[in-house]
Amino acid sequence: MDLGISGRVALVTAASKGLGRASAVALAREGANVVICARGADALAAAAAEAGADAEVLAIPADVTDPAVPAQLVAAAVERFGRLDIVVANAGGPPAARSLEVDDDQLEAALNANLLTSVRLVREALPHLRAGGWGRICCITSSSIKQPIPSLALSNTARTALWAWAKTAAADLFADGITLNLICPGSHATDRMKAISVPTGPMGDPDDFGRTVAFLCSEPAKFISGSTLVIDGARSVGLV
Ligand code: NAP
Repeated sequence: MDLGISGRVALVTAASKGLGRASAVALAREGANVVICARGADALAAAAAEAGADAEVLAIPADVTDPAVPAQLVAAAVERFGRLDIVVANAGGPPAARSLEVDDDQLEAALNANLLTSVRLVREALPHLRAGGWGRICCITSSSIKQPIPSLALSNTARTALWAWAKTAAADLFADGITLNLICPGSHATDRMKAISVPTGPMGDPDDFGRTVAFLCSEPAKFISGSTLVIDGARSVGLV
């Protein structure tokens, strides 16, 4: 299938490893030029080299949770490529913690990383998406918004707040030709998964996840917006 995004410009944050990297590589394979960021320069360079096999890549070492960084990333994308069409908002996940253990500082850090960072990225990108009359936004969250994971109280809390915000924003954006969806991974074989303690079982392939992101960022996905796509091998229980 031709996804119709060759020549588009995508910003994918937290993209040197794991799900962000797989998303950037999949978008590049579809011919989109990509801007990626992460804090560590070595892995970022390796990701840029992989994505750069198929498209132009701008790799920016940066901490996306710094409130100033989303604007800088968007400005760099537009300066380099002259446009911005696609945003895949991703950030590292918060540390494991049970609900009654968390303090205010931890909650504020989680809300900053896993709610406010996405909001800032969308806010900064929006004038450029609107200018093109076309836009695709995906926020990478977690299947824990559908079924909270007891040991990940910080993640459960911040990501559910993002869900509410994104659902509201998607309705506001659709008339402008801009879609906004949440992608909610269950267990995928990434470094993050190896670092936290969650129930084990079958693991998803990050490359499959990346291809799914590319589809949601595609031309034929234009009527998919305000959705939460859970990719967890049917692990979460519940009808909502
Ligand atoms: P990962 O393999 O650990 O990769 C995280 C990526 O994000 C790395 O490139 C990392 O590079 C970058 N990153 C982390 N913090 C950053 C920051 N503050 N600024 C810029 N880049 C940053 O993680 P993953 O498994 O792909 O997970 C991605 C997201 O999905 C996380 O929020 C995670 O909680 C969520 N999630 C993952 C799964 C899963 O099964 N993998 C399941 C549910 C939810 P640097 O460290 O060098 O910055």
